Amino acid sequence: MQTQSTCYKGTRTMTIKGVLWHSTGANNPNLKRYVQPSDNAKDRDQMLKLLGKNTNGNDWNHIYREAGLNAWIGKLADGTVTTVQTMPWNFRPWGCGSGKKGSCNTGWIQFEICESVLTDKAYFNAVYEEAVQLTAYLCSLYGLDPLGTVFYQGAKVPVILCHQDSYKLGLGSNHGDVYTWFNLHGKDMDDVRRDVKAAMERKEEPDMTEAQVKDMISKLVPTMISEALAKEAKERTGLPLPSWAKAESAAAKAAGIYDETRPQDYCTRLEAAIMAYRARK
Ligand SMILES: [Zn+2]
Repeated sequence: MQTQSTCYKGTRTMTIKGVLWHSTGANNPNLKRYVQPSDNAKDRDQMLKLLGKNTNGNDWNHIYREAGLNAWIGKLADGTVTTVQTMPWNFRPWGCGSGKKGSCNTGWIQFEICESVLTDKAYFNAVYEEAVQLTAYLCSLYGLDPLGTVFYQGAKVPVILCHQDSYKLGLGSNHGDVYTWFNLHGKDMDDVRRDVKAAMERKEEPDMTEAQVKDMISKLVPTMISEALAKEAKERTGLPLPSWAKAESAAAKAAGIYDETRPQDYCTRLEAAIMAYRARK
């Protein structure tokens, strides 16, 4: 989704230290505005169907756009809110610019959230939850502590921060995102960190305890086995006498050894003993 950009072509890999959030600062919630498949992408038609086509050609998958993110959050063509990854997670993004101490671009995975009408509460809640889930996933994937900090370029930098946080730390350019939008909905990056932590704990909690799993198995398995055996026995009872055995089966019946019923069923020790006894007579 970004292989034609100067960023993708010119960037390098990085050691991941955290996750940095952006929001676009423009009223356009549609991913297609920014994200488009590359011209030679094998699944281009399918991707365009999902994303919708940017007919203005001003998406970020071009060389004249000197920026690039690891992912974008916004709306697909059908209105679904989702995440699209646009670069490998360890590709250094060209996202937050730099400040007097350096740049969070070296180490922080970065994504943009497409802004809509700023007061649209339903859309805000949907993208907020999506961004929390994405960040929780990335923290799990790279063993990051969502409430932690890292010492970088002489500053104590939160593992999770936004563009404006990076500016205040001297590690990003002067932008207001995400607070300009988030504060309208009573959220700040401390809420984000807490919500990411909570999402990670929810994920790690098993659905059932070990005792509950054992109890379920001990109740289920015997029933399943006896049901399977009963089904097999019923099927065997109904199987016909095969033609190759007809003559000898009839002879065994005439000799009083067995009665030709259930010819394909298993026999018990008792039945086997009686048949052997009758044959011996
Ligand atoms: Zn930004």
